[in-house]
Amino acid sequence: MAARSASSAKPVIGVLAVQGDFREHLDTLETIGATGREVRLPADLHGLSGLILPGGESTAMRKLLHRWNLVAPIRDLAARGAPILGTCAGAIILANRIADGDEPVLSLLDVEVRRNAFGRQLESFEADLQMRGLRSDGGALTMHAVFIRAPEILSVGAKAETVATLDDGRVVAARQGNVLGISFHPEIAGEVRVHRWLVNQARRTRIAPAR
Ligand code: GLN
Repeated sequence: MAARSASSAKPVIGVLAVQGDFREHLDTLETIGATGREVRLPADLHGLSGLILPGGESTAMRKLLHRWNLVAPIRDLAARGAPILGTCAGAIILANRIADGDEPVLSLLDVEVRRNAFGRQLESFEADLQMRGLRSDGGALTMHAVFIRAPEILSVGAKAETVATLDDGRVVAARQGNVLGISFHPEIAGEVRVHRWLVNQARRTRIAPAR
């Protein structure tokens, strides 16, 4: 485990490491000079300034989050203002609503998602898209996005905003304040700007002490 630090000058970003492609997220954090920490137990969340929920298999992730009592402390971390990024399965874990009956897990992002929404031929695909919500001037970033058995964001509720769509209008990223859920995988595409946003948010935010 990485050294712990409460200093906001060098924020420590947790990466949920119970399942999925957490290693790629830790590598991306390292690439941009940020400190990452694997999170498996509630104690690993102490002193974090931000958290990443990686892609993987949301059903397995859901079970492990409950088994290791991580749901309440992650919700608490978000409520204290820490930026939270969920990619792919991580975005499903963040969603308030999941189509076709699955219970929501963290309910931190006011969207409805559908798992594996892009069908068989499109199990994996890449697309260039415009992503808003990351730049302080409100402008868009052009991003090369990699989708792997990705969820679609079917609807965005009043508390959240759409920050990226495909050319056909399907929503693939949404933000609610400090919580960002995206259907694609920046950590696989060599894309560092989403992680940079998270680290900058973490640096700017004074995270309230744990309750
Ligand atoms: N299809 C996976 C799920 O529903 C998500 C895929 C991914 O994270 N790349 O959990």
